[in-house]
Amino acid sequence: MKKVVIIGGGASGLTTAIFAKNKENEVIILERNKDCGKKILITGNGKCNYYNSKQNINHYHSENEDLIEKIINKETNKQVLNFFDSLGIVPKIKNGYYYPFSNQAITIKNMLLLEAKRKKITMKNDFLVESITKKEDKFIIASKKNKITADVVVVATGSFACPKTGSDGMGYKFLNQLGHSIIKPLPALVQLKTTGNYLKDWSGIRTDVKLSLYENNKLKKEEQGEIQLTNYGISGICTFNLSGIIARGLDKNKKEVIKINFLPFLDFTKVEDYILWMDSKMDFVKNRTISEMLEAMLNYKLVNIILKESKINNSSYWYDLSPAKKQTLVNNLIAFEVMIMGTNSFNEAQVCSGGIPLTEINVKTMESKKIKDLYITGELLDVVGDCGGYNLTFAWTTGILAGLAIRENNHD
Ligand SMILES: Cc1cc2nc3c(=O)[nH]c(=O)nc-3n(C[C@H](O)[C@H](O)[C@H](O)COP(=O)(O)OP(=O)(O)OC[C@H]3O[C@@H](n4cnc5c(N)ncnc54)[C@H](O)[C@@H]3O)c2cc1C
Repeated sequence: MKKVVIIGGGASGLTTAIFAKNKENEVIILERNKDCGKKILITGNGKCNYYNSKQNINHYHSENEDLIEKIINKETNKQVLNFFDSLGIVPKIKNGYYYPFSNQAITIKNMLLLEAKRKKITMKNDFLVESITKKEDKFIIASKKNKITADVVVVATGSFACPKTGSDGMGYKFLNQLGHSIIKPLPALVQLKTTGNYLKDWSGIRTDVKLSLYENNKLKKEEQGEIQLTNYGISGICTFNLSGIIARGLDKNKKEVIKINFLPFLDFTKVEDYILWMDSKMDFVKNRTISEMLEAMLNYKLVNIILKESKINNSSYWYDLSPAKKQTLVNNLIAFEVMIMGTNSFNEAQVCSGGIPLTEINVKTMESKKIKDLYITGELLDVVGDCGGYNLTFAWTTGILAGLAIRENNHD
């Protein structure tokens, strides 16, 4: 009988345990919290967005992007969906986003724990692992008070993101001591800090926009959706999806600028076309001040800020503006520039970018290429997904691949 010890009972650790367990394997999860699956409870605003049917490797980012498709592909997507089917979880699918039909993340957590119990997996809670060493064929896993030996170890301790749930980056230290390198972990899916003396005034505004990220003046990525304007900068799913690139760019002293298009419902390519469009709104142009004209489309607080930034008086009329002023106003409406100064911290981040390079594991099995019988799953690896269920998909998938390889004793 093989003794398999999984460190961390989060999304990927629980999945690995369920797949690794069979009559030949004793499986033990060591979890520092009182209970496994704490982070799952706060995912998707308490509803757990556990999968997305729009699977595409473009939703995943890594320094070794060419290796991602070995992990996320049609076959493994099917394995994830079959897994949730086998747990009896009925999905509620909204625009490709999967949630449990109960609308409660606790459904996912409880069904995983139920399955782990049914499979007679031992869950040792309140067990904070402090070191992992290997002597000959055996691993020794130690907490302050206990030592456990194992034939196979899975490190599933998560990243630095949201440390109050138990993931405070200890896994990186263990793996570094075991010979792995680490791509510097940085906060991702996180709010962005900007400059501007209007921040207090725009705080609280939510509006649909198109965002264009420029890194060192080169267009890098675009996102569309709702943003929240805050007293420190900007937040919302579309900013989260740019934050990973930005954190990495800022770390390398690159200039990160976002241009906000507050008129995403228009899709002209040239400023002149926007000006012509404004000109064509004859009734508005004649009968309304500029602020009255813009308030028909945008939040009035935002209109005030845009006019102030454009140095245009609220009571002026569109036809009174010089061509240069029209150009400035339109620029601020469709390409409002914000300089990104930083991101919020790991405390606020949903995930981390960086981690163990994919080149250091067998991407079919998640086994370390450095140490036999050592497996690494989930967010510890250098892969970050977009918002929308992709990070949990990665956690389930790496858990399934590691669990199956351990069960089948496959080191291929
Ligand atoms: C607020 C928030 C919302 C999110 N919403 C979504 C969403 O809706 N959809 C989505 O796809 N992703 C979401 N995510 C991301 C997703 O939750 C993570 O990517 C995923 O949980 C990572 O799984 P993991 O198994 O790698 O690590 P984790 O789930 O973090 O689990 C790691 C476990 O290891 C334990 N541990 C750590 N160190 C030790 C140690 N030394 N000894 C013992 N145990 C240890 C921890 O206590 C924890 O239980 C969200 C994240 C946050 C923070």
